[in-house]
Amino acid sequence: MYPHQEKTEIDGKLFRRVMGRFTTGVTVITAEAEGAVRGMTANAFMSGSLTPPLCIISIAKKARMHGTLEKAGHFGVSILAQGQEGISQHFAGQGSADPEPLFAHMHGVPVLSGVSAAIAATLEAKHDCGDHSIFIGRIVGLRDDERQPLVFHGGKYATIRHKKDAPADQTIDFWELPPE
Ligand code: FAD
Repeated sequence: MYPHQEKTEIDGKLFRRVMGRFTTGVTVITAEAEGAVRGMTANAFMSGSLTPPLCIISIAKKARMHGTLEKAGHFGVSILAQGQEGISQHFAGQGSADPEPLFAHMHGVPVLSGVSAAIAATLEAKHDCGDHSIFIGRIVGLRDDERQPLVFHGGKYATIRHKKDAPADQTIDFWELPPE
């Protein structure tokens, strides 16, 4: 469908730079297969649907995590908190040896302890996306540790600062919550 050798007019460096203009948080994707938990840093994460509750991640086919996800049939998404750059670097294979990460299980799915928030999902679908695959998870558990998030922009870590005059929670209309 997407032959890897297909010629492209798009400059790879510009592609990365432009994609880096989109500001994201940073997550660690976790999964357990054959008795071993693996973790991998990812910022290609988004919410998918409220009814049913779905979330989406994009994982490089060459990443070890890709095969682990296929075997595990589930994944955890741990949204990193401010100051957790070391954890992000560690699970991107770029870090020095950090203290052993602490995994906790939520509905049988491994996630990290002490982050900003965590999601447990079972694997609902997998779609081809060139050199990546899109994994769609059905959310089975949520945990909000209410810590300020770690931010990623232009290839650098950052922190968030809300505007003083920011309007109240905008997500309510977006997700069409049922009336109480
Ligand atoms: P490895 O490189 O083998 O594992 C990554 C690291 O995690 C290794 O150092 C390993 O020792 C450590 N580790 C794994 N399991 C454990 C464990 N149980 N206990 C302790 N340590 C463990 N790639 C994508 O495909 N999609 C993305 O959305 C994405 N976003 C990124 C965002 C950021 C901010 C960064 C920095 C990187 C991102 N990457 C993304 C790249 C990705 O994180 C790296 O390419 C990663 O090294 C690929 O992981 P791997 O599964 O091949 O495993």
